[in-house]
Amino acid sequence: MNAIRMSCAAYAALSLAVLTLSAFGAHAAPAPCPGNPDALGTARVLDVDVAATPQVGRKQFPQTLPLSPREVVLTFDDGPWPQTTERVLDALKAECVRATFFLIGRNALARPALAQRELAEGHTVAYHSFSHPMLDHMPIAAAQSDIERGFAAVDAALYGHAEHGPTTAFFRFPYFASTPPLLGWLQSRRMVVFGADLWASDWNPMTPDQELRLILGRVEETQGGIILFHDTKAQTAAMLPAFLRALKMRGFSIVDVVDAATHPRTQ
Ligand SMILES: [Zn+2]
Repeated sequence: MNAIRMSCAAYAALSLAVLTLSAFGAHAAPAPCPGNPDALGTARVLDVDVAATPQVGRKQFPQTLPLSPREVVLTFDDGPWPQTTERVLDALKAECVRATFFLIGRNALARPALAQRELAEGHTVAYHSFSHPMLDHMPIAAAQSDIERGFAAVDAALYGHAEHGPTTAFFRFPYFASTPPLLGWLQSRRMVVFGADLWASDWNPMTPDQELRLILGRVEETQGGIILFHDTKAQTAAMLPAFLRALKMRGFSIVDVVDAATHPRTQ
């Protein structure tokens, strides 16, 4: 109940902020960031609709989100995870940046408070299966069952109930291992499937500095896009503050993606 009250309060505050900003036009400057006047901030909110963009991310699909050059969407997979997810959330909060987290169901059930913190701090919380299997190597019924169990686990962790189906219509396949029948099924469920436009290769061992150089090179090359990180990785958590500062200095801006159908931020 606490989490529900907290998230409702956060949404009420955000709705007020949106109403206030809308008086000055759709592209008004982001709200001030407490304690950090030079924050990167979140430049705009993008409603994502399954009818327009059922699958996004150029690494896997022919199209991506309608982003302008040097716009970035931050996404984090596989959490929530002790310490590393907390450090990632702290870094995002310090720069007033909103991101999207794709949670593994069993991790969300193990650490519901961390999942609730993501939601309470204004991030989009979405789904990444229950047990992170290679879904393309399984019978379709077993794959669908793991995906559904992931929806229910994350919703149970966030809201204390799971009876209404996936609350946010965003899903990412573990290992990007989709199949045409599963993609068709998710589209019939009105789920947007996220791939990525670039990534930090943070599943490979490297120092935070190496990861920072790698992702900055890639984001300059692609001119932004949907970036995949893992909030389970210590080197990602360690380099994130410097990465966010570098995005600001290089003139990139952050886009917050929300589910056009269900998310209260867009009401
Ligand atoms: Zn994953």
